[in-house]
Amino acid sequence: MSSPLSPLLEVQRLDLAADKLIVHRRDLPERESLVACEAQAASLDADHELLRGRREGLGRSEHELEVEVQDVAAKAQEAEDKLYSGTITSPKELGSQQEEVRLLRQRQAGLEEREMELLEEIDGLEGEMAQNRSARERSDAEAAEIREAIRKAEGEIDAELARLAEQRAPWVQQIPPAVLEEYDRLRAKPKLGGRVAAQLGDGRCDGCGIKLPVLEYKRMREQPDDAVIRCVSCGRVLVR
Ligand SMILES: [Zn+2]
Repeated sequence: MSSPLSPLLEVQRLDLAADKLIVHRRDLPERESLVACEAQAASLDADHELLRGRREGLGRSEHELEVEVQDVAAKAQEAEDKLYSGTITSPKELGSQQEEVRLLRQRQAGLEEREMELLEEIDGLEGEMAQNRSARERSDAEAAEIREAIRKAEGEIDAELARLAEQRAPWVQQIPPAVLEEYDRLRAKPKLGGRVAAQLGDGRCDGCGIKLPVLEYKRMREQPDDAVIRCVSCGRVLVR
C-alpha cells in the first residue's frame, strides 16, 4: 500500500546514500597520505636549507684557509730564497733561518691538511644535499600520484552523486511543498542523523522503534492521508 508520503522515503533513501558519499569524499584516505607527503617535503626543504647554510659556512672557511695557505707558502718561499741566497754566512744565522723555513713549511702543511679535511667535509655535505633533493623529487612524484588518485576518486563520487540527484528529482516532485520543507528542516538536525522520515508500520515508528500509544495511533490514522504527522517520541515524519 502506497501513501501520498511514500515518495519521501525514496527521497530520504537517495539522500542518505548521498550523505554517505559526501562523507567518503571528504574522508578519502588519500587526503591523509597527501598531508603526510607534503609535510615530508616541507621537512626535507627545511633540512636542505640547514645543509645549504652549513655548506656556505664551510665554503667561506675553506676560502679563508686557502688565502692563509698561500700567505704562509709565500713566506716560506721567501725564507727559503733567503736561506739559499748566499747572503747569510754566519752558521748561527743559517741555523736559525733553516729553523724558520722548517716552521713555516710545517705550518703550511698543517693548514693544507685542514684544508683537505674541509674539502672532504664539503664533499660529504654536498652528497647529503644531493640525496635530500632526490628524496624531495621522489616525494613530489608520490604527491602527484596521490593527487591524481584523489582527483579520480572525486570524479567517481561526483558522478555517483549526479546519478542520485537525477533519481531524486522525479520523487521530489511528488511531495507536497510543506512536507518537503519540514523534511529539509529536520534533516538539518544532527540528532536525527539525516533520517527524518520513518515508516509507521503496525503502530510502530521504524525510526526510533517505539510503539505509539494506541490512542495516539488511532488519532493519527484519522488524519487526512497527506497530513504531516510526527512520531511523539523521536519527532520524525511518519509515513503511513
Ligand atoms: Zn520515532
